[in-house]
Amino acid sequence: MERLNFAVGPVMMQEDIRSIGGRQVPYFRTREFSGLMKENEQMLKELSGAGEGSRVVFLTGSGTAGMEMAVMNSFREKDRVLVINGGSFGGRFEQLCEIHGISAESILLSPGEQLTESHLEQYSEKGFTGMLINMHETSTGVLYDMGMVGEFCRRNHIFLVVDAISSFLADKVAMEEWGIDLLILSSQKALALPPGMSFLVLGEKALVRAGESEVKSLYFRISDYLRDGERGQTPYTPAVSVLLQMNYRLRQVLETGVENEIRRVKKLSGYFREHIKEMPFKFFTSSPSNAVTALVPLTGVSAYQYFEKLDKEYNIWVCPNGGALKDKVFRVGHIGAVGQKDYDRLLDALRRIVEEGT
Ligand SMILES: *Cc1c(COP(=O)(O)O)cnc(C)c1O
Repeated sequence: MERLNFAVGPVMMQEDIRSIGGRQVPYFRTREFSGLMKENEQMLKELSGAGEGSRVVFLTGSGTAGMEMAVMNSFREKDRVLVINGGSFGGRFEQLCEIHGISAESILLSPGEQLTESHLEQYSEKGFTGMLINMHETSTGVLYDMGMVGEFCRRNHIFLVVDAISSFLADKVAMEEWGIDLLILSSQKALALPPGMSFLVLGEKALVRAGESEVKSLYFRISDYLRDGERGQTPYTPAVSVLLQMNYRLRQVLETGVENEIRRVKKLSGYFREHIKEMPFKFFTSSPSNAVTALVPLTGVSAYQYFEKLDKEYNIWVCPNGGALKDKVFRVGHIGAVGQKDYDRLLDALRRIVEEGT
């Protein structure tokens, strides 16, 4: 049977998107490619609810490269940054601050825990100038309340950087409405493109910060990308094929309507959760995103064994957890080119593993 991939990125891609990736890569210092890039910028802004004056940086590098670029160009030594650490992606922001000498404090959540107003209130009027948050902590499946976070940052004049890499096109992302100053996106999650590109959407304050930044890096200097981006170009060779695939995909999403695209993902996650509820699994969090369901098996088979059995015996990938959660939690993604029939096959396989026991 055909391989199914319910990992949380890279994900299954549509046939038409894949065929674009199979073409010869065109030369890109051309008017045609510049035009396509300007379209990509406009479409990304529209789909993320960015303000008119905002700009997009196209960075060839995985999502973490986007996170690092955002941190390096937004903050300096005089900043005091609040990091929301609810798992491995929050922890990554902590590491980045440490490496780049930026003073940071963390709100450490236990795995699966939701961020609340009372967590934030302790940090109100304490002189923080920035916040780093992963809208969806993909490692545990928790989706944070970004309206609440945005309101807190507005009140405290905090520069808000949001990693929405695993939320974009799976859950609502509203940059201007929530007062997000810098939004980080990536190609291989719900955008359902190959890995390799990340995208930074910069609001007006982010543009000012990037312009004033004395970042000690050539490749990660945002101001160079903004300068070349004005004519639809990048300073260095981008992942050209991915950007062509992106143009096709974004047009498609705009045609379908972003709400409908999100509704499709929500419906799939709802379908899966409705059925898995009747089986011996517990949901790891009570605040799940549409993108991922994190599951705790309740019978003798460990979470990691589910991953292995599904892979070897059923030709299905789910997403194992690492570290302390390895034997406790595995995750099922709802993003990419998957449909209800695919979930039926997964549910069937899970049912059989449950019945077999260890
Ligand atoms: C996938 C993901 C990333 C990017 O990770 P890379 O492996 O560097 O692409 C970053 N943040 C979140 C929340 C993610 O889900």
